[in-house]
Amino acid sequence: SPDETLARGRRALLHQSPQVSDEMLTLVQARGSLVWDVNGREYLDCTAQAWSNNLGANDPRVVEAAVEQLRRITHARPTFHTPALLELADLLVGIAPDGLEQVGFTLHGSMAVEMALKLALRNRPGAQHVLTLQDGYHGRSLSTMAASWPHPDNVFGPLQPRFTRAPHPDTYRPRPGLDPEQDAELCLRLLRDTIRKGVDGKVAALIYEPIQGNGGHIEFPALWHAGLRRICDEEGILLILDEVQTGLGRTGSMWAAQHYGIQPDILVFGKGVGGGFPLAGILAHHDLQRFEPGDDQLTFGQFPVAIAAGLATVRAIIEDRLPERATEHGAYATERLLEMQQRHPLIGDVRCPGLMVSIELVTDRATKEPATKEAHQVYLRGLDHGVIFGESRYAGLGNLIKIKPPLDVTHEQLSRALDVLDTVLTEIEN
Ligand code: PMP
Repeated sequence: SPDETLARGRRALLHQSPQVSDEMLTLVQARGSLVWDVNGREYLDCTAQAWSNNLGANDPRVVEAAVEQLRRITHARPTFHTPALLELADLLVGIAPDGLEQVGFTLHGSMAVEMALKLALRNRPGAQHVLTLQDGYHGRSLSTMAASWPHPDNVFGPLQPRFTRAPHPDTYRPRPGLDPEQDAELCLRLLRDTIRKGVDGKVAALIYEPIQGNGGHIEFPALWHAGLRRICDEEGILLILDEVQTGLGRTGSMWAAQHYGIQPDILVFGKGVGGGFPLAGILAHHDLQRFEPGDDQLTFGQFPVAIAAGLATVRAIIEDRLPERATEHGAYATERLLEMQQRHPLIGDVRCPGLMVSIELVTDRATKEPATKEAHQVYLRGLDHGVIFGESRYAGLGNLIKIKPPLDVTHEQLSRALDVLDTVLTEIEN
């Protein structure tokens, strides 16, 4: 029977963890912020499928562009161009933070990070080391795993030694006795000491996320960003900003770089740029020397269908003013969640830069003890109410509930997600 086929297929999947199989939905359709499973149930998707649908799922403009490209030419290897490739390059440079006038494409965020690291190494000959931050997440290729934390060293053996993970400040959990600004100052001193003391090799670059996404939506005090730029300038290190999660309007500006006033040398984008198609890449400062032929050529690196979809997506994000929508939604979510925080002791912290909305659940507001069991309950009960909340069982402290639907979610839908959150928190607390 069809059900048995699906069950056999599920058992065969390498990436399927046996423990979560019962909770996995088999999706058959999506539109905007809604998805439907194989049983015909409708869900409001607050995950935008790994935060990738900044523009709602299956936007007709994107589907049309992809189909049109498919009809003409499906694949062209990176030594050839398609019109959409050149138009998208021009469009992205047009909306990039100041000075970022070169662009490269690839398919995955992880590969885009690798591209950024390679460009940095090419531009700092003799320097081989890269600084990353603890709790940072940059991907799941072998070297981006080495740049991320935590990673299962024990399973994969020692990963490439070129990364050193430096401590970072945390606005919600500053080090004991320090306020967030003092925490940031301490971490800046530690970072500078690390560079001066010398890691094994000269440092070429520092890579970090403006808000640490998978690490637990960790936000930094403003002086941290300015401090990192200063250190990079003084030490001749390139600053790579990983905006795979924060880019394309998520935080209320087109780029978090603009939101926080960060001037990166290289900006990494992914997820939201493809409108559901695999597309990622980097924007690089005009001063940086380009790749030599062969440095970074992947067979599907400039996959025309993804590029055409990306062009339609970025145009739609601009046309529909989605960064502004994210700001409005974020303001509304902040108001609602702060009000809920007064009634729900579980809500330890509310963080809503734009539609990068999350709450930290804690068992005790004073000690900030993570309420991980409760967070998972919120996720499960959300499903019963037809809402898919983002949870963070495998990253951060495991106690985060994320509400990150497409940026064109309707006010009614966002309001419904918050109502459901309110209801399930009441259920769990009683
Ligand atoms: N960087 C960041 C900040 C991310 O959040 C992710 C994906 N979660 C990646 C890189 C890797 O992207 P991908 O999964 O497309 O390789």
